[in-house]
Formats: sequence, C-alpha cells, structure tokens
Amino acid sequence: MSVHLEWSAYRAKHCRSLFIGGGYSSPKCGTNVDLCDQLREPYGERGHIFFAGEATTLPGATAHAAMASGIRAASQVASYLSSIQH
Ligand SMILES: Cc1cc2nc3c(=O)[nH]c(=O)nc-3n(C[C@H](O)[C@H](O)[C@H](O)COP(=O)(O)OP(=O)(O)OC[C@H]3O[C@@H](n4cnc5c(N)ncnc54)[C@H](O)[C@@H]3O)c2cc1C
Repeated sequence: MSVHLEWSAYRAKHCRSLFIGGGYSSPKCGTNVDLCDQLREPYGERGHIFFAGEATTLPGATAHAAMASGIRAASQVASYLSSIQH
C-alpha cells in the first residue's frame, strides 16, 4: 500500500492568523539548555529590565509556563524595588 503525502512538513504561521496572533518557542535540536536561564536574566546596567514569557521557562510552550514566568518576573521586580529602597 502506498500513501501519498501532500506535504512532508508544515510550517504554521499562527502569528499571522487573525484569531491566534501569537505562538510559542520551540528550541532547535542541540540548543543549550541554559538558554532559558539566560533569557530570564535581568538586563541593563542596573539589571532593571525583566523578562517574562513561556520561552523563559522550562518546559515552555504552554499557558502555564507563561503564567509561571509572569509570577517569577513579578517577584524579580519586587526584589529589585525592595533593594533600591533600602
Ligand atoms: C495555535 C496555538 C495553540 C496553543 N494551544 C495551547 C494549549 O492548548 N495549551 C497551552 O497551555 N498552551 C497553548 N499554546 C501556547 C500558549 O498560547 C503560549 O505558550 C502562551 O500564550 C505564551 O504566552 P506568552 O505571554 O509567553 O506570549 P504571547 O501569548 O505570545 O504574548 C506575547 C505578546 O507580546 C506581543 N508583542 C510581540 N512583540 C511585541 C512588541 N514588539 N511590542 C509590544 N508587544 C509585542 C504580542 O502581540 C503578544 O500579545 C498554543 C499556542 C498556539 C499558537
């Protein structure tokens, strides 16, 4: 029996879809597992720019990861604000 495939790979463009407008990260094979740690590091001379989003959490790609990252980033902001007030 032979199976005819119309395509061998499908590349979705969710970000261009009117009713989706977003996506999620998919690390390539061989991506350094420390990448998430780097993405969630505060940025800037004073370390006062903070990042949230599913890509900053392992495992990412879900709404749960996005929410967890927001809670973590809020905690980083709170620690930063408390450190500059004393
Ligand atoms: C088709 C599809 C189905 C999914 N199904 C599920 C599921 O069943 N369960 C699940 O848990 N997860 C699912 N996900 C994954 C989930 O939606 C994402 O992991 C989650 O939304 C990521 O949240 P986020 O806040 O990190 O990023 P996003 O939700 O992508 O938010 C990023 C926001 O930043 C905005 N933005 C981008 N660039 C700029 C800029 N330069 N300036 C200002 N704003 C900007 C974007 O418009 C967007 O609103 C699905 C995703 C897709 C695409």
